[in-house]
Amino acid sequence: MKKKTLMIHGGIPRDPHTGAVSVPVSRASTFKQNGVGNFLYEYARTKNPTREALEELVKDLEGGVAGFAFASGMAAISSVMHLFKAGDHLIFTDDVYGGTFRLMAKVLNRFSLDVSFVDTSDPNQIEAALKENTKAIYIETPTNPLLKITDIRAVSEIAKRRGLLLIVDNTFSTPYWQNPLQLGADIVLHSATKYLGGHSDVVAGVVAVNSEKLKEELHFIQNSVGAVLSPDDSWMLIRGIKTLAIRMEAVEENAKRIAEFLEGHGAVRKVYYPGLPSHKGHEIHKKQAKGFGGMISFDVGSGEKAEEVVKKVRYFTLAESLGAVESLISIPAKMTHASIPYERRQELGITDGLIRLSVGIEDAEDLLEDLAQALD
Ligand SMILES: *Cc1c(COP(=O)(O)O)cnc(C)c1O
Repeated sequence: MKKKTLMIHGGIPRDPHTGAVSVPVSRASTFKQNGVGNFLYEYARTKNPTREALEELVKDLEGGVAGFAFASGMAAISSVMHLFKAGDHLIFTDDVYGGTFRLMAKVLNRFSLDVSFVDTSDPNQIEAALKENTKAIYIETPTNPLLKITDIRAVSEIAKRRGLLLIVDNTFSTPYWQNPLQLGADIVLHSATKYLGGHSDVVAGVVAVNSEKLKEELHFIQNSVGAVLSPDDSWMLIRGIKTLAIRMEAVEENAKRIAEFLEGHGAVRKVYYPGLPSHKGHEIHKKQAKGFGGMISFDVGSGEKAEEVVKKVRYFTLAESLGAVESLISIPAKMTHASIPYERRQELGITDGLIRLSVGIEDAEDLLEDLAQALD
């Protein structure tokens, strides 16, 4: 099945009992057993028909052995972290999602998980950070907000050589453009709150794994920890995924035009978009993904100028989050990345004049005109 077909026909696309073309929301928390221990479903935390349909779809989209749905992206990430134990060491991309950094540095550190944050766009830095007790490498590509690219195949070779798990947060690329499991990763996860849901109306997280062993371990954790996605939100996500392909195509077209426009604009100092040949990770991204996505960052030189642009745009809503049909705009230094100390932000390149766009599916002409009047 080709990807566009998979979005519609993957997983469990219909109700096997009634033929309903939309999987029903099954709210029951418990299920009648035909005899003791003789049942299809037992208790909804363990397995629920609507969540199961979504999990099968996620498995198919990422080409994995199993899929899992959690109550948020962070619930998915914390559940995956339960695969490790005190004393284990993990290597992370240094500009991972802020919530992931907080989870590792301020919560799971209490359970003695040892973590290093390195620039994974340079595989040598991963090699240098390896320790006796290293158990996994966790990467994000592209990253937020500078869209840094890590070579998934190169990192998977390091992981395989050392017997480590490779975990990839694939939120920015989506399974429509990039499938890390096919590039050597063991676990791929998403904040489904973003592109998979796609309409800014559901908070969810999903995971796909590449082996029977991980399938069993993660199901055991999902059921034990209990951070599962509700049947209603599972249904919302299935509905969102049906249009993922056409949304990503539309976003791609708009983003390409906007990135090119920004690159040619006198008021813009620098544009970060993996689709631009000037982007540092352009060639690597092209080798591992089929599209460049809808996230663009650009620098207008100062915090005051950035605030002015953000004030003047009409079709870009000032908000955190990303990946939905409506275009959003934000200033990372003052919003999503405000909790990072000023010096550290400078080191990472997250300047006060940096503006981040999540490009939506509005008419490109309107978006370009809007940015032009705000920048002029
Ligand atoms: C939003 C986000 C998360 C966290 O997901 P939630 O659904 O908000 O819990 C994790 N990783 C990335 C890259 C994100 O953008």
